[in-house]
Amino acid sequence: PELDPADQQFARDLDRAHVFHSWSAQGALDPLVFAGGSGARLWDFEGNSFLDMSSQLVNVNIGYQHPKVVEAIKAQADVLTTIDPKHANLARGRAAQLIVEKANLAGAGFEKVFFTNGGADANENAIRLARLYTGRDTVLSAYRSYHGNTGAAIVATGDWRRVPNQYARGHVHFFGPYLYRSEFWATTPEEESERALHHLERVVQAEGPDTIAAILIETVPGTAGILVPPPGYLEGVRELATRYGIVLIADEVMAGFGRTGEWFAHQGFGITPDLITFAKGVNSGYVPMGGVIIPPAIAHHFDERVFPGGLTYSGHPLAAASVVATIEAMTDEGIVENAKRIGQEAIGPAIEKLAADHPDVVGEVRGLGCFWAIELVTDAASRTPLPDAVMGQIKSALLARGVLPFVQNNRIHVVPPLIVTEDDITEAFHAYNAVLSEVAALV
Ligand code: PLP
Repeated sequence: PELDPADQQFARDLDRAHVFHSWSAQGALDPLVFAGGSGARLWDFEGNSFLDMSSQLVNVNIGYQHPKVVEAIKAQADVLTTIDPKHANLARGRAAQLIVEKANLAGAGFEKVFFTNGGADANENAIRLARLYTGRDTVLSAYRSYHGNTGAAIVATGDWRRVPNQYARGHVHFFGPYLYRSEFWATTPEEESERALHHLERVVQAEGPDTIAAILIETVPGTAGILVPPPGYLEGVRELATRYGIVLIADEVMAGFGRTGEWFAHQGFGITPDLITFAKGVNSGYVPMGGVIIPPAIAHHFDERVFPGGLTYSGHPLAAASVVATIEAMTDEGIVENAKRIGQEAIGPAIEKLAADHPDVVGEVRGLGCFWAIELVTDAASRTPLPDAVMGQIKSALLARGVLPFVQNNRIHVVPPLIVTEDDITEAFHAYNAVLSEVAALV
């Protein structure tokens, strides 16, 4: 459709007048306005186009307006737009079947899916399942984590956002591995892994193993900095959870559905969690959707007992139809394989070169698949994070060059839709390189 440039200001004015924003002081906001998108590109009403290196909140894995997913939503809308979760629905059943199939690719034996509206309530219900299944209360999760903005999920979150929201019971935090800023004085990945596991086991012992229902971890912590776990860490957490009878919940809300180059991130690390939570990439957020993937032991625990949880929109047919189309399209078009290849052949080499070309400001780069972080510092020796004001300037400079970045604290997260091409990555890194050259002068 024709775009009216006047709508650029109109959309912004409406937003500023009436939309109350997430995680923000409302006064000084200046939101970007987007009118449409296709593939890895977005545009505004004035005809400016942007290469998306953010996937929004790292959720648009399949890119914008994938025709098969849009068509599936339209087709389901023509048939039945909503139905009570207690009734069986074809789209919902098929979505659950496909999700379980992908979760079982590496030989795991998952059986059922509990559908939610997004990632937070997926974690909320995974925690509830773990507590009811074990009869225990405490949930261990990492300080460097984000698990969502509801009762238990926000308190399970480790970052600052939990602090003004601490109303839920039974949460204890621990430090996960992060070699660049090690809490354990480690100097090698092996040391970091071993010491982080020792610390976690000591937390388990000190809290009392018989009181701990779940260890909730992001397989690859995302918002906290794309902290790829060092060798042996996830295997160690799996072993520890098994040894103490603790349910291991893998939060794959961000890392799942192809982001790391695997259908599920844990599949690349050779472990199987007890519960998996998902949202985002399951249907790229075309319609809100999340859920918990459940193995037989926990699913059948509730064969005779009531599961005391539910949501009006659990397995919403429009969302379910979009899940089916998303998983089918990602399979048919090799989108997960593309994410892995682009990570290995394009982003990996480009990010290493960026680090080599800007040794003073790039402290560390890390990642896999289409899930990478560039950690920026004032100087390599002190590792002091680049201040927010400079990060703001970096963001503006990238936008001016037609790249929509994901900027988080002192990091640029390189998290494009999984359909990006080598040429897209070349274009994006051309902009990152130019902007980091300018930034060196500001530091
Ligand atoms: N878990 C992880 C790892 C996330 O990254 C997020 C969102 O960023 C959530 C949970 C919360 O998901 P939602 O915002 O859909 O509730």
